[in-house]
Amino acid sequence: MANFNLDTHKLKYHPIEIAKFYNDEEVKPIYVEISPVANCNHRCLFCHYNYLGHEGKFQKGRLLSLVEEVAKMGAKSLVFGGVGEPTINKETILAIKKAKKLGLDVGLMTNGALLKESELEDLIKNLTWIRFSFNAGTAETYAIVHQTNEKDYAKVSQTISHLVKLKKKFESDITIGVQYILLPENKDDVINQAKVFKNIGVDYFVVKHFYSHEKNIYNPDMSFLDKAFIENLLKKQKDIQTEKFSFIVRSTENLNQNRVYNKCYGLPFILYIREDGEVYTCFSYQHESKTSLGNIYTSSLGDIWTSSQKKEAINFINEKIDKNRCQPNCRHHQINNYLWDLKHPSVEHINFI
Ligand code: SF4
Repeated sequence: MANFNLDTHKLKYHPIEIAKFYNDEEVKPIYVEISPVANCNHRCLFCHYNYLGHEGKFQKGRLLSLVEEVAKMGAKSLVFGGVGEPTINKETILAIKKAKKLGLDVGLMTNGALLKESELEDLIKNLTWIRFSFNAGTAETYAIVHQTNEKDYAKVSQTISHLVKLKKKFESDITIGVQYILLPENKDDVINQAKVFKNIGVDYFVVKHFYSHEKNIYNPDMSFLDKAFIENLLKKQKDIQTEKFSFIVRSTENLNQNRVYNKCYGLPFILYIREDGEVYTCFSYQHESKTSLGNIYTSSLGDIWTSSQKKEAINFINEKIDKNRCQPNCRHHQINNYLWDLKHPSVEHINFI
């Protein structure tokens, strides 16, 4: 069974960059995420970014030139995701093709409802992975959770099925995954929907836990998520998964907000660029203007990286944000843990290897 390692981190596979960090040398981002558009055709109840308003998209042409800057900077991976539905921006697929051509590993996060059959071959040939956000087991629940038309349930299922067929046809290595955020509205459908996607032939189905955001209104009663519920999921997991299909239940340990670190050493390894041009590293504090590293409509990514604003933003995040109030398991959390332990070992006698 493939190991997707979704609960920890993969920075440990980049020892040269880690050595640079350890020696206080400059490090550059390994992972970059771009939000091609803030608009979304759905309004998922759980969406972390609802508070930002879902308006705006990249200025024409800038997405493609930005991909070149990302590659030039030496990043290894590029994900199209972010605040809205990336496929609304018609340049996203062109940008995916360009990124692949420039040697980047490319991922796409999508709800899949706007993908056209004619676009799927390009995805198969250029993506390392695609992850569908699909959060219900019936058309009715789908419409409630995604805040959309019931028809999208069948439409997206068909698109995923078609993609699986193309993967086989082209003998592609692409990983096709589905993410399901567990909510009171969809908790009873999860096992059946995992089986549906197993039969369709996706590579994995991951159940992820919901994290609230202080600026969003939706704040469901998650008391159903107790030990018995998780144990039942894990029991079913053993029955459902096979060599070719992973049924992943994300760890509930990640729901813990307590941090051992008070500085986020992982910040320089991850970049996030929003459709309004603002460049961030911490995803969760986009509403705080002092966390912006710069703007790609007025500077190149390379210039932003060496700017005083970038240093000030990283200092602000490290000095002013209370990490124990952050989203549990934020994008940097496992990397922060790992790097903190390197600089502040939690065990005695480290030389007795
Ligand atoms: S721990 Fe908090 S400040 Fe640090 S990267 Fe995560 S969300 Fe941002």
